[in-house]
Amino acid sequence: MEKLLIAGDRVPTVSGQTTQLIDPATGEAWMEVAAAGVEDVDRAVQVADQARAGWRRVNSRDRTQILLRLANLIRENREALAQLESRNVGKPIRDARDEVDLAADCFEFYAGTVNKFGGTVNPVAAAGTSLTFREPIGVCGLIAPWNFPIAITSWKVAPALAMGNTIVLKPASQTPLTALRLAELALEAGVPAGVFNVVPGPGSVAGNALVRHPLVRKVSFTGSTEIGTQVMKLAADDIKNVTLELGGKSANLVFVDADLDKVIPKAMWSVLGNAGQDCCARSRLLLERPLYEEFLYRLSNEFKKLKLGMPLNDDTEIGPLVSFGHRDRVQEYIEIGRKEGATLVCGGNIPAQTDLEKGAFLQPTIFADVKPNSRIAQEEIFGPVVCAIPFDHEEEAIAIANNSFYGLSGSIWTQDISRALRVAKAIETGVISINTGHSVHLEAPFGGYKRSGIGRELGLAVLAHYSELKSVFIAD
Ligand code: NAP
Repeated sequence: MEKLLIAGDRVPTVSGQTTQLIDPATGEAWMEVAAAGVEDVDRAVQVADQARAGWRRVNSRDRTQILLRLANLIRENREALAQLESRNVGKPIRDARDEVDLAADCFEFYAGTVNKFGGTVNPVAAAGTSLTFREPIGVCGLIAPWNFPIAITSWKVAPALAMGNTIVLKPASQTPLTALRLAELALEAGVPAGVFNVVPGPGSVAGNALVRHPLVRKVSFTGSTEIGTQVMKLAADDIKNVTLELGGKSANLVFVDADLDKVIPKAMWSVLGNAGQDCCARSRLLLERPLYEEFLYRLSNEFKKLKLGMPLNDDTEIGPLVSFGHRDRVQEYIEIGRKEGATLVCGGNIPAQTDLEKGAFLQPTIFADVKPNSRIAQEEIFGPVVCAIPFDHEEEAIAIANNSFYGLSGSIWTQDISRALRVAKAIETGVISINTGHSVHLEAPFGGYKRSGIGRELGLAVLAHYSELKSVFIAD
């Protein structure tokens, strides 16, 4: 049984409650994990609060070294972490390896920021000297989702530690394993006991208790817009500093001059990566009318060639969805699409292969002739489902792309650089890519407009979200 990690020790919960993990590829019960309750969260937060003074005193050179050691330990444990992540989430092992690499790179990047992000001297009119200090905020309550567990956890933990904060992390109930292992590696790297605590448990109990706890000064949440709304309301009670990374319904805008040989495979993976369980998935495919039929014909041929399979097989391209419950939810959306009158071009069913029949697999699916205001075009499906919509001119494409509550990511495919920049400026989204389906660069800020979130992760921008700014004035 996997226990909590509090004050450097693996401990059971007060209540003895556990969560049973199910292997999404086989449907078999796999592992039990301690499920933290309110008392456990309280204990972890008290411990993190007591650890603040010591961690803050660790000088910048030593803190840098500790984070670099952690990056190296992640690399040394790459295969074990990747296998854990692959089996827990159901993602193909080669994608899990990339995710572990991203986590290691993230700690390395933020190790380098520890002694480069400080205060300023301000040219005030008054007689004296004005300085600003960057100070840690205090205990950070970090809440992670299940789709990229170790990567998204690292995006929060690395800058929080770099800025001298202490942490209580609540991973998603279904995918807590790599977070627990990461916290053990942090101890090995020299992060003092109590600085980084992990409390897996149900969001409605452990997550709720963490957000409400008066000693938690910062909440960084990644998950659905629905739960993010609740988190923001709860955090408002004592004016906590909040970062929200929420859902998306991003658009791929493909113009008639795009190079289809290059676009089709990239556009496909910009939706099907992680079996579509990606907040940045470009699940709305906006195609300029003259290429609409050809594009969909060729894209559906590519979809049919995809290799669905067991996550730990090296040649698997698409694994199962994270759980059977989530597959049911995605299938409900496929049914909604049919009822809304969209044309099912391919997929839509549970695959017939006998080796996959026990897992939460689903065929990659394309809907064509989707109406921009229909539910499947507006709501986040979070599965391997593409909604294709034709457009006749640039202004119409922009209007369709912006017809969304969300504003997280998106791509523009064209060889006309002026058009690419004009459209990039017009789209209301936190991240936009030109001629690629890639959204995340550790060195650049990442986050959403509108109901996709508040604040930014990654880049240097996130450091401001994990630090307080103090003004000091010394009179002449
Ligand atoms: P979710 O259901 O909102 O859960 C996210 C996390 O919040 C989990 O750890 C969950 O715990 C916890 N939680 C649930 N209820 C809570 C409450 N009342 N108070 C505090 N915490 C609570 O999201 P998910 O299904 O794990 O992840 C998918 C969603 O995340 C999608 O909408 C996706 O777009 C979004 N996402 C966004 C980004 C981004 O960077 N913008 C990145 C990845 C994913 P349990 O696991 O116990 O429910």
